[in-house]
Amino acid sequence: MTSSLPTKRLIGIFGGTFDPVHQGHLACARYVLTHCDLDALQLMPCHLPPHRASPGVSAIQRVEMLKLAITGEPKMQLQTLELQRHTPSYTADSLALLKHAMPDTTLAFVIGMDSLAYFKQWHQWQHILTLSHLIVCRRPGYSSEKGDTPTLLAKYGADISALRTADNGKIIMLNNPEFSASATAIRHALAQKKQNITELSPAVLNYIQQQQLYQS
Ligand code: ATP
Repeated sequence: MTSSLPTKRLIGIFGGTFDPVHQGHLACARYVLTHCDLDALQLMPCHLPPHRASPGVSAIQRVEMLKLAITGEPKMQLQTLELQRHTPSYTADSLALLKHAMPDTTLAFVIGMDSLAYFKQWHQWQHILTLSHLIVCRRPGYSSEKGDTPTLLAKYGADISALRTADNGKIIMLNNPEFSASATAIRHALAQKKQNITELSPAVLNYIQQQQLYQS
């Protein structure tokens, strides 16, 4: 009798400040889930030290906005690992903890093209690639010719199928439609009292208005 081996689980980890989570993040998340055939995608907000946090916006409020944003998205989950610590975490350390907790799961860390351009400046970037793959979403204004991207792709670039055939160490460039949303621009628009911000989901915008976040 022949029996096929069970396929390994493939989980995406999407780290960010999510200050606030916006439609650019969600468009990427949906595209990654669909095109990379992930079992789940965990959105992992980072700890912000007081001097980097937006005035008056707590980690709990960033999490509440993420919860509202992923309501109705069955494969999206919240990963609060980095918020359970009192200092900022390195991605390499968080991925090591996740890998330890899920040894039989392949991890894929999701980033935008802007982040790949300076990926070699990340703490222990090679270690990250021994723990996970990288899935890279296109972002307006950032081409694959910038910064570290060409050399990284020459060495680690691979096709989407590598997410399942290798356990780590591959960089997958997606061909997602670009979505020009940035949290910085959104915070600026909110501080200028703009009401109709289409780059935010209605539930997140409603929460921001109720809690009077990003007013200055
Ligand atoms: P800020 O403007 O405050 O720097 P941001 O909009 O870049 O914020 P982050 O939470 O810092 O949002 O981003 C988390 C991850 O999402 C990063 O890897 C970033 O490259 C990616 N990302 C954010 N916005 C987009 C977008 N519009 N398209 C593709 N990737 C994005």
